Amino acid sequence: MRNRIIELAKRYDADLVGFAPASRFDSNNAIFKVMPTVKTVVGLGFRVLRGIYRGIEEGSTYYQYTTMGVENLEETVMPLALLTVSNLIESEGFTAIPQRRNQLIMNEENSTNPEVDYGDIYRGVKIENQIDFLECAVKCGLGERSMINSLLTEEYGPFIRYVFILTDAEIEPSPLKTPSLCDRCGKCIEACPGRAIKKDGNLDTWRCSVYYNGANGSKNPFMPPDAYLEFEDRLDIINGTAEMDVQKAKDIMDSTYFYPPAKHNYRSSICGRACDRACYVHLEEKGLLTKKFNKKFREGDDWKLSTKQFETLKREKEWDFTK
Ligand code: SF4
Ligand code: SF4
Repeated sequence: MRNRIIELAKRYDADLVGFAPASRFDSNNAIFKVMPTVKTVVGLGFRVLRGIYRGIEEGSTYYQYTTMGVENLEETVMPLALLTVSNLIESEGFTAIPQRRNQLIMNEENSTNPEVDYGDIYRGVKIENQIDFLECAVKCGLGERSMINSLLTEEYGPFIRYVFILTDAEIEPSPLKTPSLCDRCGKCIEACPGRAIKKDGNLDTWRCSVYYNGANGSKNPFMPPDAYLEFEDRLDIINGTAEMDVQKAKDIMDSTYFYPPAKHNYRSSICGRACDRACYVHLEEKGLLTKKFNKKFREGDDWKLSTKQFETLKREKEWDFTK
């Protein structure tokens, strides 16, 4: 059955397939709450096409990453593969429980998910049986955990998304990857236009949301000169350096509308996952990625827009106000 799962998953666009025996998980892990009889976790990894990032990488086209790299993978391609492979497992007489992320539900009270509108999220929903997707990916041998808690794969670096199937079928496991990709270079941290990743690699999800949505004027060709005029520190917001707590992040996002969202609640990414793109460039430069292309992903320096127009408007406003 192992080979048939791999063959079918690949026919339905999975690029990576891995198998983790239940023995790789602690006995109190959520996989046992979802399925007490689980014997194997099947992991399916789907590359986000490198070309889907090209528009944002070059500052020319923005919709493709969100709709094709997030929405259509999460809502169409991945569920179809998940159901098809689950059907195969059940046709053999075993039980298969498909597991895909619910982007709108989180255990934490005070966190958010940059890919969706913060107001649409249900927080503090204590779901003890929500599996840890990154942990499952690593235990299925799909890749390694980076210092910023992204999944890095040998083939596609961080350009990957994933889903799982819990089953009571015993299937030969895949080997775990020996971590060899993340060298803690910090290029992902430097690349974030909103300084959302702390030096220790932890992500401030609220800052991430603000800048995922495009609050940095030097990386957002759609920002009008009067953006964020109601904020005293608008230039700091636009430069990515503003201090912010959760309420301030919400206030900024309430003023943020630069690009129409995709369907299924997905916000359009303006940062284009600069953190992952910087990581990809780094891994490619080091020659570590096994999926090779005839051209480098980034040739030359990353682009940046001038923010002069925002400074001028602020000065005029202040002058008018004090007259
Ligand atoms: S850029 Fe990639 S390799 Fe470098 S620290 Fe970040 S995740 Fe690790
Ligand atoms: S680059 Fe974008 S996705 Fe990455 S941490 Fe910064 S805002 Fe978030």
